[in-house]
Amino acid sequence: MPPLLNDAHIDAAKYDEMYAASMADPDAFWGEHGKRLDWIKPYTKVKNTSFAHDDVHVKWFEDGTLNVSANCIDRHLAKRGDQTAILFEPDEPGDGAQHITYNELHEKVSRFANVLKELGVKRGDRVVLYLPMIPEAAYAMLACTRIGAVHSIVFAGFSADALSARINGSGAKLVITADGAPRGGRVTELKDNVNKALLHNVIDTKCLVVKRTGDQVAWVGGRDIWYDDVASRVSADCPPEEMNAEDPLFILYTSGSTGQPKGVVHTTGGYLVYASMTHEYTFDYKEGDVFWCTADVGWVTGHSYIVYGPLANGGTTLMFEGVPTYPDAGRFWEVCEKHKVNQFYTAPTAIRALMGKGTSFVEKYDLSSLKLLGTVGENINPEAWNWYNENVGKGKCPIVDTWWQTETGGHMMTPLPGAHALKPGSAQKPFFGVKPLVLEPTSGEVIEGNDVEGVLVIADSWPGQMRTVWGDHDRFVATYFSDYKGYYFSGDGCKRDADGEYWITGRVDDVINVSGHRMGTPEIESALVAHETVSEAAVVGYPHPVKGQGIYCYVTLMNDETPSDELKAKLQAWVRQEIGPIAKPDVIQWAPGLPKTRSGKIMRRILRKIAENDYGALGDTSTLADPSVVDDLIANRADV
Ligand code: ATP
Ligand code: MG
Repeated sequence: MPPLLNDAHIDAAKYDEMYAASMADPDAFWGEHGKRLDWIKPYTKVKNTSFAHDDVHVKWFEDGTLNVSANCIDRHLAKRGDQTAILFEPDEPGDGAQHITYNELHEKVSRFANVLKELGVKRGDRVVLYLPMIPEAAYAMLACTRIGAVHSIVFAGFSADALSARINGSGAKLVITADGAPRGGRVTELKDNVNKALLHNVIDTKCLVVKRTGDQVAWVGGRDIWYDDVASRVSADCPPEEMNAEDPLFILYTSGSTGQPKGVVHTTGGYLVYASMTHEYTFDYKEGDVFWCTADVGWVTGHSYIVYGPLANGGTTLMFEGVPTYPDAGRFWEVCEKHKVNQFYTAPTAIRALMGKGTSFVEKYDLSSLKLLGTVGENINPEAWNWYNENVGKGKCPIVDTWWQTETGGHMMTPLPGAHALKPGSAQKPFFGVKPLVLEPTSGEVIEGNDVEGVLVIADSWPGQMRTVWGDHDRFVATYFSDYKGYYFSGDGCKRDADGEYWITGRVDDVINVSGHRMGTPEIESALVAHETVSEAAVVGYPHPVKGQGIYCYVTLMNDETPSDELKAKLQAWVRQEIGPIAKPDVIQWAPGLPKTRSGKIMRRILRKIAENDYGALGDTSTLADPSVVDDLIANRADV
């Protein structure tokens, strides 16, 4: 196990003391920690929340006023105007990185804000961002916050249809896009997608276009505007708008792995307090560190840990336009070496993909600047955790496995790198102010004690919590507060181990019942991936005449392995030996690719439908990264 950081902000004693304080008196605790931000008018009220089913409301710091961009930029200027705020690494390594200082960020964001004003965007208006991972994406976000507009980012990998649904859903006055988005050596024609999306638009939406590739784009006069044309005639002085703590900051649609994406609403004060505090403590961020979160700003991870958390903390945040495998599978490590990255935060799916390419790509680079590694998005199976630890962290960097959701705004459970001896695959400890409970799934009874398993709920509010579903508060209540009354239901299952630490067992939907034994499918997946021939695996249940549910496994092999019936038998025996006879796969289907959301999560609900032989009801597939994968899996479905 990597050692703990010994000069961390939070050691074990400090964690215990602060956690206890946050539970004993949330008003006092958050009243104190809310002061990490600069408030225009300080709050006098801290917490006003209720999870009661007939009166769900969440308000934090409700009479305080502040501005997010002022907290992320202006307040740092005196001390660190010349420090790099955003370190931009473009898709093509040869194009060279850009260092954007806080002074420059101030100028860029203020000008961008004036461009928005010039186009008639006002406080409270929604603006959709459909942009590559370029500094302009951060400028646009911060510009919205500067004038009090509400941004809704749509990941640039989404199709025109998905974009259109989100533009209409949020009622956006303006879409900000670029001509094209270079990624992995290829270009996505973003402006073309916006043209398609706006074709059947039911509202009047203008389109602001940032130049990235210089490619020719189809233009609609009167609707489309080049950013540069307006920017050149507006001033670079834009005083920040005074916003209430509970004014909406952004809307973000969830990644859609379980059903229809929801427009999650976060507000100004509580979100920023929580994003900045988790960024500082979870990653043990220190003055001068270079922090790299590899997510896209189109996901909440990018919101909280590329832009808002690091910048609120006066940090240096790396923004990467490309993909981990371009020009080759060493790109992440090349960038870490080049920019002397100190904290590196990525997703298990990326680690597994790189693991499949072998260690030679990591070994080439000097990774000695790294102090800490992190993961988010899914369970990390121990195999991938060990690979990450040994090859990237060289056994010296604590790995924080952060469990959280779009809905939670920031980390909910994670080991803290100076406080908690690590356990691969476990999110371990609740963050300050977070009170997890384990419930018996059917009765909803609270399960006390350790070494127990059930569904994961949170007993009380925390500042980063979503406030509502955009335009549909009933859906908010129905989705999160109805199954288990009085609690926030995460949709995930978990175990509390003998030491009282938490392990996410996967989405509750992913639990299968084989001959009366309840099993989380991630556990079987982990066992499969632990086999030397397997690169990725996804496991679902299907109706089985004898066992109730059978175990259906989709397996992707390592690059140099050949599928065979012998190998299937070997893998079945392997899982049986690793977990037990009850977990022995009934069916293994070779899968050259798995259906994933654009954020890289396996869409098990689609795999379930295929295993159940029920293709008619695949549901919403608009968030799939590569729909052709599904056709291939259907064509080669195993007969059961
Ligand atoms: P949707 O809600 O639309 O189905 P989604 O749940 O994939 O999409 P996100 O908010 O991006 O959308 O993901 C949060 C979910 O990701 C969590 O509920 C959990 O299932 C999973 N997750 C995130 N981090 C971890 C982690 N460290 N360990 C295990 N699971 C994780
Ligand atoms: Mg979810």
